[in-house]
Amino acid sequence: MARYCESVCRLCRREGMKLFLKGDRCFSNKCAIERRNFPPGQHGRRRSKILGYGIQLREKQKVKRFYGLLETQFRLTFEKAERMRGVTGENLLSLLERRLDNVVHRLGFASSREQARQLVRHGHVKVNGRKVDIPSFVVAQGAVVAIKDKSRQNPLVVGALEGAKARGVPAWLELNASEFQGKVVTLPKREDVSLAVNEKLIVELYSK
Ligand code: SF4
Repeated sequence: MARYCESVCRLCRREGMKLFLKGDRCFSNKCAIERRNFPPGQHGRRRSKILGYGIQLREKQKVKRFYGLLETQFRLTFEKAERMRGVTGENLLSLLERRLDNVVHRLGFASSREQARQLVRHGHVKVNGRKVDIPSFVVAQGAVVAIKDKSRQNPLVVGALEGAKARGVPAWLELNASEFQGKVVTLPKREDVSLAVNEKLIVELYSK
């Protein structure tokens, strides 16, 4: 499978905003956006203003990179959102928020979505008592997501949970830190998505 192997901080600099791709480092003064908030590359500082299609493209790239998806996966999620009832842009964000890797990260079991994806792939996560090792698995309302008993001593999980306790979890999730589990109490709404993005522009881009 294709993977992005370069510095992820370049992605934040390209989008001109924090995408929180590196765990605790993103909350420190070592964050590249704090130090060099201009696009990467030789001509980064001299890039001209973007308009029209360029703005739509950047909004799509922001969301895609925030959730760590490649183009095909993102497009498939968009098509699924289109088939659902309601507003396509909001459906898209809701589907992305409910991905298992995102839920594991939001609950605080991993400090980044990349780390969460690895936990899921390596079989450390259970949904409603059964092992699920598919990061794109969409978690339903009422589902209980837990770290397997044997994995609860994992220093990455313990460390991430400490950091997350201080930052809190979103209102649509409920964390039981002592049991290493969390519940999807309600489906995420638009206002629960912390990323500053105009999802309508993504719908316009894919509708061309
Ligand atoms: Fe982005 Fe985090 Fe790197 Fe800052 S530290 S540029 S938020 S990935």
